[in-house]
Amino acid sequence: MAKDTLPPPDQRFAPLDGAKDIAHALINEYPVKFGELANARILYLSKIGGIKLHGERKAATIKTCTGEKKYLSRCEANRDEGWDYIMTICAEIWARADDKLRKRIVFHELKHCLRLEKEDGSEMWRLVPHDLETFYDEVDIFGTSGKELNDLIMQIVAEKEND
Ligand SMILES: [Zn+2]
Repeated sequence: MAKDTLPPPDQRFAPLDGAKDIAHALINEYPVKFGELANARILYLSKIGGIKLHGERKAATIKTCTGEKKYLSRCEANRDEGWDYIMTICAEIWARADDKLRKRIVFHELKHCLRLEKEDGSEMWRLVPHDLETFYDEVDIFGTSGKELNDLIMQIVAEKEND
């Protein structure tokens, strides 16, 4: 192999322009939810062979790209500044999902993204945890959100802090 020849790419990963198009449409459709992500440099990838997080099979993941990873990921496609996030979607699930489900997958991952501003005005990108953890049976009987229970918990936490 010649000295300046790159090794073959990891064949499990490929750019996923379909997810990028859906994300751009969602950012336009929900400016209040996603408007701050308009400047985020997000790399969209599909991955063959499944995605596991904490031992659980996932449709997709999103990670922040910082430090050395950001430095090493500089290229023309991210305006030579490195990616802010990498969204990876399971290729098998993407192939079988209809348009609505694909939109939901991308929507979910974008909801994990949060733009913060440093004192000097520069951007900082972080991850947000899920709002709720539940069971399908619970959703069937009591509805989808359970937000009123979370609000009550937060209210009690706030009252205790004020004591
Ligand atoms: Zn999630």
